[in-house]
Amino acid sequence: MEFQPEDPDKIRKLLEGHQSVLADKVAEDEKYYAGKACPFCGSKCVPLVDSTTPFIPGRLTPKCNLQCMSCGTLFEPDTGIVIEEGVPLDEVPDITQAELITNE
Ligand SMILES: [Zn+2]
Repeated sequence: MEFQPEDPDKIRKLLEGHQSVLADKVAEDEKYYAGKACPFCGSKCVPLVDSTTPFIPGRLTPKCNLQCMSCGTLFEPDTGIVIEEGVPLDEVPDITQAELITNE
């Protein structure tokens, strides 16, 4: 069976007059995620949909984990549990000063 998307104009017409229940929840999620910082370096993070459990009962929007934009640490925002440790910026090797290795 092949998935065939519905005509967007037809969808808009069907939704006319109905209240959006997702817009407020999405804005609430964005505000919540924006208020969280990396547990290691304190930098800003971006939400990534948790692909293992994207939807949970009673929640209208996908569940997200947060990934630090500086060190890459991935963590669960509600509990702070680190899923994948990142590398702090002061520990990243400076490859711009590395010598070129040749076989000669
Ligand atoms: Zn970080």
